[in-house]
Amino acid sequence: MSKPDLKRSFLALWVVAAGGGSPSLVQAESALVRAPAEFASAVARLQPGDTLTLADGEWRDFQIVFTGKGAEGRPITLTAQTPGKVILTGRSNLSLAGEHLVVSNLVFRDGWSPTGEVLSFRKSRTERANYSRVTGVVIDGFSKPDRAESDNWVALYGHHNRFDHNQLTGKTNAGTTLVVIRDAVQGLENRHAIDHNYFGRRPVLGSNGGETIRVGTSHDSTSDSFTTVSDNWFEHCAGEVEIVSNKSGGNIYRGNVFFESQGALVLRHGDGNLVEGNVFLGNGLPNTGGVRVINRRNTVSDNYMEGLAGANFGSALTIMYGVPNSPVNRYVQVDGAVIENNTLVDTREMSFGAGMDAERSAAPINSRFARNLIVNRDGRDPILVKGDMSGVTFTGNVQAPMATKALPGVEGHKVVLERGKGQLLRPKGLKGVGVRADLTYVAREDTGVSWYPKTTPIAALDSGSVVNAAPGEDTLTRAIAAARPGDRVALQAGVYIVNQVIGVSRAVTVEGPANGRAEIQFARPNLFEMASGGALRLSHVTISGALAPDVAGAAVIRAGQGAAQYQLVVEDSTFQDLTVNRSFNVFAAAPGSLADRIRLERVTVDKVTGSVIAAHTETADMGTYNAEVVEVIDSTFRDVTGPVLDLYRGGTDESTFGPRLTLTGSTFERSGKDGGAIRLYGVQRTQARGNRFVDSGAPTFYRRVGAPELVWGGNTLEKTPDLVTNVPPLEVAQ
Ligand code: CA
Repeated sequence: MSKPDLKRSFLALWVVAAGGGSPSLVQAESALVRAPAEFASAVARLQPGDTLTLADGEWRDFQIVFTGKGAEGRPITLTAQTPGKVILTGRSNLSLAGEHLVVSNLVFRDGWSPTGEVLSFRKSRTERANYSRVTGVVIDGFSKPDRAESDNWVALYGHHNRFDHNQLTGKTNAGTTLVVIRDAVQGLENRHAIDHNYFGRRPVLGSNGGETIRVGTSHDSTSDSFTTVSDNWFEHCAGEVEIVSNKSGGNIYRGNVFFESQGALVLRHGDGNLVEGNVFLGNGLPNTGGVRVINRRNTVSDNYMEGLAGANFGSALTIMYGVPNSPVNRYVQVDGAVIENNTLVDTREMSFGAGMDAERSAAPINSRFARNLIVNRDGRDPILVKGDMSGVTFTGNVQAPMATKALPGVEGHKVVLERGKGQLLRPKGLKGVGVRADLTYVAREDTGVSWYPKTTPIAALDSGSVVNAAPGEDTLTRAIAAARPGDRVALQAGVYIVNQVIGVSRAVTVEGPANGRAEIQFARPNLFEMASGGALRLSHVTISGALAPDVAGAAVIRAGQGAAQYQLVVEDSTFQDLTVNRSFNVFAAAPGSLADRIRLERVTVDKVTGSVIAAHTETADMGTYNAEVVEVIDSTFRDVTGPVLDLYRGGTDESTFGPRLTLTGSTFERSGKDGGAIRLYGVQRTQARGNRFVDSGAPTFYRRVGAPELVWGGNTLEKTPDLVTNVPPLEVAQ
């Protein structure tokens, strides 16, 4: 990374360089500015080779418009006095327009952009940046507070721009982290370089629009962008099913690392792209995928994939079915794909012919799948053939420990793996198959910047110390207020009365005694309200709704409007007497809220007029929903008006993995007689095993989109109607 020239930066005066001599003889100048007004007057005078430096400190509500015309080899630079010490906060953003501009070493945090972009390579629709570079810029959690309000953090316009060594983490609202926006009027050949960036944590958005990178749109996707995305690090990017959404032609994705990221690099639209030498490390985490192939003449070679647990559209390697004569925004038939010399170790699934349905009926043609190495050390065969693969030539592939029966051109071999360069697994004594012997990948520390942390530690549940609380009125409220993130509030046996709604925006545990009973009663409509980033664990407590007022919206735990990235864990606890109004819930989600996880284990619920988990407010059918993962284990529900579990995810969008439900070992008695004991609408994956339904409403499961999986095994129904579903359930033996 180039260091800004600060040799005269401490002269606050601007030295007027013009006035004598030809511009090419003008010496480069450097000015330090301390306020937006100084910046504005200085920027107007910039000449090729000049550097404009922002003074260290906080720049609040500063919408930087950086324009100028540098020259090749003599750019105009905007930088920080000290990297990491110039902080843009509040309602700030940056747009640049002109040529040969360089922006470096700025930090955006503690705020959000008032426009649709944080960092834009244009000032207006007609004034763009070309031949310009943004390097060493940090955007940390600079998200609009309303998750549903969309923006792009970085928008690349124009052509020949470079975006490198930047660090982008913690985008929580809708919209891409980085997008290449193309324009037929100004030219579609962008030739941008996006390299050595660190794309950090992008939590699950819970709808489409959570891509980390998108290049183009379907509209212009038949033309080439010639953008290169190389040597970037994608870590915990989990926004949606597309980590990268390629929507143009002629692009190169090379040498990138996808670390524990949910989703896949998706060749969604556009032809003639190259995906080469990338490394995908899933570590077995759910939904970690590889590459999805659609369209014409796309090449996927020399990629290394290990421990990817994704399936279907997000499998390690997915070859899709297309739509005959597809419109640009649907699925162009795979034609001329070359997939060779990839190594896949311990992947859960390779999905061949994914998406085949009445509309997507065109099998891949003129394609080649050659010299790939597929190893599953547990002996599983990850290859799943869902359609006609006769249009793909399979040659020279090796699979261990034995060849799949589903495809030709795959030879079974015993393969011994050893860790080689970059800790990648290599087959001992096997040449010409899998990735090339010298494949390695960019080091994490060589991406982003060195002067700003890549991850911010968040206190986990039970990572702190113990705060004691004695029975009484408001003692629990005070103890929680005194707790630091990660602390555990320990209750003695006795009754605790709470007179206000307790907000939870960090990790806190409330735990009663293992022997004896700690009972919590609350006098407001809610006991707890979950906020973004909150985590609550309740253990060994009894919660009674007897004191709660008779008002609508009563729930023991409520997720606040728009609350996201929160989790709720309840263990060994009892809820009772939630009967003061006609729909008193144990948990209720507010619109726009999204739980990372809700887990109930060994929970007993007695006499509730509403639901136990009411997560069904997203009824606009836009593919949004209220809970990513719901787990209900070994619990008992009696006399719940219900449905006990009420989860909704509407619409036909295919961009999300959730909601997912695990329901095991639980009993439902006299519950959900009208709406069903459980009502699952559009839940993507359900595993229900070993549950008992007695004198209750029918469990219901409706498929809306994608390939929702319903595992239904070992459940008993007594005086309860049969499962109602439009999906043939996958029965499993206990
Ligand atoms: Ca998408």
